[in-house]
Amino acid sequence: MHEAALAIEVVRLLEAHSDQLSRVTRVVLQVGALSCVEPRALVTALQVALPGTLAEGAVLEVVAVPARARCLECGAEESPEDRITPCSACGSPRRTRVAGQELRVLTVEGVPR
Ligand SMILES: [Zn+2]
Repeated sequence: MHEAALAIEVVRLLEAHSDQLSRVTRVVLQVGALSCVEPRALVTALQVALPGTLAEGAVLEVVAVPARARCLECGAEESPEDRITPCSACGSPRRTRVAGQELRVLTVEGVPR
């Protein structure tokens, strides 16, 4: 049900475009691998949430962002399988996540007013 709550949040963002757009025709969402959101579940939740809104019938696209972490010891960047895998270059567990937690509306296209 996490995705259903997010879908409502996305609809709210799309409705905010109603000043400029009479209708939303395409929405691109960016979903990070570490965001705990299942892209297909989000699209399904949106298909349920969109009818009756500005974005009814809009094309939904999800761009997956792979996880990336940078080692705090040696600076190496890689795409770890999970959050606890140590750096493959130097073995340090001290790493900072630089990508993969995104969840945002990247593009909104529609019919201008
Ligand atoms: Zn390292």
